[in-house]
Amino acid sequence: MNISQLIHRHLPASLQLAAIFLLAWIAAPAAAQPAAGPAAPSATLFVNVNIVPMGRETVLRGQSVLVRDGRITAIAPALAAPAGARVIDGGGGYLLPGLADMHVHVRDRETLAMLLASGITTALDMGEAPNAMVGRTRAAVARGEVPGPRLLAALAVDGSPRFGHLVVPSAEAARWAVRLAKANGYDFIKVYNGLSSEAFAALAEEGRAAGLPIVGHSVEAVALERQIAAGQAMVAHLEEFLYAFFRMPEGDDGQAAPDESEIVRAVASIRASGVAVTADLATYQAIAGQWGRPEQVQAYLDMPEARFLSPADRIDWRRSGYQRRTGSLAERAAFLGRFARALAGADALLIAGTDAPTIPGLVAGDALHRNLAALEAAGLSRHQALATATSGPGRFVARAMPGSGTFGIIAEGARADLLLVEGNPLEDLAVLRRPIGVMAAGRWHDAAALAALREGVAEVYSGAE
Ligand SMILES: [Zn+2]
Repeated sequence: MNISQLIHRHLPASLQLAAIFLLAWIAAPAAAQPAAGPAAPSATLFVNVNIVPMGRETVLRGQSVLVRDGRITAIAPALAAPAGARVIDGGGGYLLPGLADMHVHVRDRETLAMLLASGITTALDMGEAPNAMVGRTRAAVARGEVPGPRLLAALAVDGSPRFGHLVVPSAEAARWAVRLAKANGYDFIKVYNGLSSEAFAALAEEGRAAGLPIVGHSVEAVALERQIAAGQAMVAHLEEFLYAFFRMPEGDDGQAAPDESEIVRAVASIRASGVAVTADLATYQAIAGQWGRPEQVQAYLDMPEARFLSPADRIDWRRSGYQRRTGSLAERAAFLGRFARALAGADALLIAGTDAPTIPGLVAGDALHRNLAALEAAGLSRHQALATATSGPGRFVARAMPGSGTFGIIAEGARADLLLVEGNPLEDLAVLRRPIGVMAAGRWHDAAALAALREGVAEVYSGAE
């Protein structure tokens, strides 16, 4: 039986088309094979670095770090270089875990390059990645043939075509969606607003059996508290709590902020459940900034970073509907800042996410640094802000994907995903924007290589205009 017979025989009609569509991505002709990267030495020794380990709030001064086969194997003030090892003199710079953006939308290899060039070594695609990206391209990144972060991926499903996602109209379709996601290498199921409660329950149950945790939005028919009780592992975004958790003021016009006492209630519930929450302040602020203001969308398109925006995203930004809305989200944006600060203060599991590049104003890579700055401006300590992009995602993935390996901290046995910068990020987060180099899965990319990646992206996108 060939694969299309298999689909017709075993899949409900509602999912046949989706399956054929996914398979079409797999079967798409391979693009020209990239040249393999330079053979990485099996061992790298960093000397003369100060370590910002992120497992606890401290700086370990004057250290050496040995990396073998993609893992950190030793940390000590002085280590001898094994035969054949590459030695990188950090020159008194600061070594910290590579960064994570846990809400991106990756459509092409250029986005992967931009993430890596920005110090991001883990990214979670939250839906709409072509199947070829989740399958073939991701495997090529893992082999070192395509430069990029480790990519995790969620398959987005909804109950109606309103937002353009794969529709699962029934519990049966939901179970098939989880099986298809599993077979195609997805790590998570992303739930969207319009799912029925039956479909949500089936996704949660089948997802648990398949090892694909539920992440995503509030589902209108279920509401966040019950979603979390059913095992949803992560809520994206922070503002979902406005739509399906907080008691809103009388006559809510969709723009008012809840009473401050609601923050206490939400923080207690989030702490008790252990659910991860995406701290996406820069995203909501970008939306608030362009709300009813077309000139702000134009300003975003004129930012220097916008040359790293694909022609397709440039068109999407121009068309975005937020600029035609009325009123103001300023109060809600400020409220979400106070909510994020309270969550960090209670040691809730916050993970950084940006929604780049689908929301106007957020360029992949650059967006994460904007989000770190927004978190600091909201009153998080620099260590708390940095934890949302390092140890927080590490804790979340360790819990959601047991056995997938430690990352997000500098410790023996952790993945060798590292960022080397000149200054202490706990004194100034902006130093993270100018890496001396980035190590992803043990592969070193120095500043010149990172600059070449960026320029390559700008060239590809300008040539495609
Ligand atoms: Zn998104």
